[in-house]
Amino acid sequence: MRNVLVVISGPSGVGKGTIAKILTERNGYALSVSCTTRAPRTGEVDGREYFFISRDEFLRRVKENGFLEYSEHFENFYGTPKDFVEKQLKQKDVILEIDVNGGLNVKKTYPQAILVMIVPPSLEEVRKRLIKRNTETEDKIELRMKRISYELGKQSLYDYSVVNDDLETTVERLTEIINEEKSRKN
Ligand code: 5GP
Repeated sequence: MRNVLVVISGPSGVGKGTIAKILTERNGYALSVSCTTRAPRTGEVDGREYFFISRDEFLRRVKENGFLEYSEHFENFYGTPKDFVEKQLKQKDVILEIDVNGGLNVKKTYPQAILVMIVPPSLEEVRKRLIKRNTETEDKIELRMKRISYELGKQSLYDYSVVNDDLETTVERLTEIINEEKSRKN
């Protein structure tokens, strides 16, 4: 069976980080660690959540073609290290947890990649959760909702959409998808 590169994307707050973590722990996949130029948040560890590198270093790696894809969010760069992914893929399946545009860019350079979008059960639920969290103003919530609609609008470009109604069922469905893809001939 071939090893596969699986991209997991979806709106923030949909639980994709938890899903990716459970999948890698349970099934032994490799989880790619991206590089970023943003500063670490409290509790984040270099090499675990991200490799935190300077802007100069990031741009140097871009020039050297060191990223499978990269993009800018809120004035910081984020990129998927090519050498890590290629090395890991020789031994196991690899999961990338990146945004929708990143996923689509990966597919351009690596058409065999499998793109999976994690979808919230309903947009109203997401809005309620954001309001309940009470960490953002109404305007910011509206902006986030716009971003979420934009990302969900790209679903048709993804290979699979999985509604995250129940965490365990979602993890099982993803495992099934990956196993099916692994046993394909091409
Ligand atoms: P945060 O700063 O909150 O950790 O991440 C901000 C955004 O960057 C999220 O949407 C996350 O999915 C995205 N991101 C993280 N790593 C990568 C990457 O390697 N490539 C791309 N394109 N986006 C990434």
